[in-house]
Amino acid sequence: MSDPLVPQERSAAARPLDRRTVLGGLGGLTALAAAPIAASAAVAAHPGGAAHDHGAHALLTADELGFDAASGRYALPPLPYDPAALEPVIDAETMSIHHGRHHAGYVRGLNRALDRLAEIRAGEGDAGLIKHWSRELSFHGCGHVNHALFWQVMAPPDAGGGGSPVGDVRALIDRDLGGEAGFRVHFAAAAKAVEASGWAWLVWQPGSDRLMILQGERQQDLMLTGVVPILGIDVWEHAYYLKYRNRRGDYVDAWFDVVNWPKVDELLRRVRG
Ligand code: MN
Repeated sequence: MSDPLVPQERSAAARPLDRRTVLGGLGGLTALAAAPIAASAAVAAHPGGAAHDHGAHALLTADELGFDAASGRYALPPLPYDPAALEPVIDAETMSIHHGRHHAGYVRGLNRALDRLAEIRAGEGDAGLIKHWSRELSFHGCGHVNHALFWQVMAPPDAGGGGSPVGDVRALIDRDLGGEAGFRVHFAAAAKAVEASGWAWLVWQPGSDRLMILQGERQQDLMLTGVVPILGIDVWEHAYYLKYRNRRGDYVDAWFDVVNWPKVDELLRRVRG
């Protein structure tokens, strides 16, 4: 047996994380809490072991999360395309500010919360602030994961964006959500009606193997524990206000032209295992 920790942790960066690694890095974040009961059993069976294949996989890889196992910290992952690539649906300035300022801020907030919580565990921090830093971990952690996913599930029309659902996600949308037409009615209405800042989510629930649509507020509220988001639209004003002003509905309607359905299908197949 090789060293049980270091080499395996590093090598895990090249492929989807197993749940033990994810839970170690981001424990408690609802957006990543896929099948926690099964994961706990697997962790107990392989304490400190290698990255075993437990069946279903985490939503995003370490690379996609910008996670460095050696430091336990996160870095802002690069956009998977040029900031102007989604024009005219999303303008380059909005993309640059959204990724380079807003998303970067969530990454900083996540690392800061992890640092402060580690200090509290070490007896060096102010345990009276545990509620504050726990909320910061949830808000910024979800903000980071949400945006890391958001960039992945969009693409220019000439590179996979737009069109209709494909593959397994198409089959599950047909089965669970009334087909593409029903999905669009439900999803667009959810996105347009989010109160203040938030998201609309297409999520997969491991236990039932069903798709659902959720309406998220802020970065983390109204999520359903255990489900995995495979598609989301950011309806914070910072996502659309430069181009669409107050017309969120126009942004939501146009956004379907950049949904990367092959990637959404890949993510669904990844998490279903
Ligand atoms: Mn955003």
